[in-house]
Amino acid sequence: KLVSREFHPQSSVIDVDGVSIGGDEFVVMAGPCAVESREQLFEAAEIAKKGGAQFLRGGAYKPRTSPYSFQGLEEEGLKYLAEAKERTGLRIVTEVTEVEAVEVVAEYADLLQIGARNMQNFRLLKEVGRCNKPVLLKRGLAATLNEWLNAAEYILNEGNPNVIFCERGIRSYETYTRNTLDLSAVAAVKHLSHLPIIVDPSHGTGKWRLVKPMALAAVATGADGIIMEMHPNPAKALSDGPQSLTPDNYYDLMKDVTKLAKFM
Ligand code: PEP
Ligand code: MN
Repeated sequence: KLVSREFHPQSSVIDVDGVSIGGDEFVVMAGPCAVESREQLFEAAEIAKKGGAQFLRGGAYKPRTSPYSFQGLEEEGLKYLAEAKERTGLRIVTEVTEVEAVEVVAEYADLLQIGARNMQNFRLLKEVGRCNKPVLLKRGLAATLNEWLNAAEYILNEGNPNVIFCERGIRSYETYTRNTLDLSAVAAVKHLSHLPIIVDPSHGTGKWRLVKPMALAAVATGADGIIMEMHPNPAKALSDGPQSLTPDNYYDLMKDVTKLAKFM
């Protein structure tokens, strides 16, 4: 298999518009769950930059559990993301939810996110496999490691070697947390594959209080980075407010994550 370490013993370092993922540097992606407005996104981008993140996240195409929830600004949101990059220099990671949108998302974003709900959307995987942008492949809601590695194989098999895994928690019997963050997957995927892996402690727990401890644990377990939700005003967020860090909590997390990452 193309994803396997047997096939490719050396760890892959993936270049995302000049930022290396999978090398020595621990990479941080931060920003709101969804792009809600120009003002909200620019404020979040300034905070993300000030705290030391390399990437700004923010969904323009939102896969929502309910059809009545905010569905995202789509191309308008992509334009704000590109503008935020111009203002801050932060690289842009954003989700693409459908085959028809791959081209437009690839036009604006540096890193294309495949969300948990689409991990086995094989047509979408093949489509991003044929585009020239790196892909962030989130783990499916109840996916085994074998299913996840095979999803990446679909992308590599189409000719795109630049895939980064993202552990974001899986469904278990526990209901206190939104998902059960499987940090053992980091070490396991590192053993099984040469591709980088990052951790999403926000969707992994659903609770902002648990984000910092799980971010620190992600560093300790050898992850190549984290992606997390931060909002200028989480109480007003249109999605995922309860798991979003306030600016102050974000700065506090960054201080300790940066310190710990230096020891790794
Ligand atoms: C997100 O990153 O906002 C998101 C929807 O994540 P996931 O696909 O992991 O649920
Ligand atoms: Mn979210």
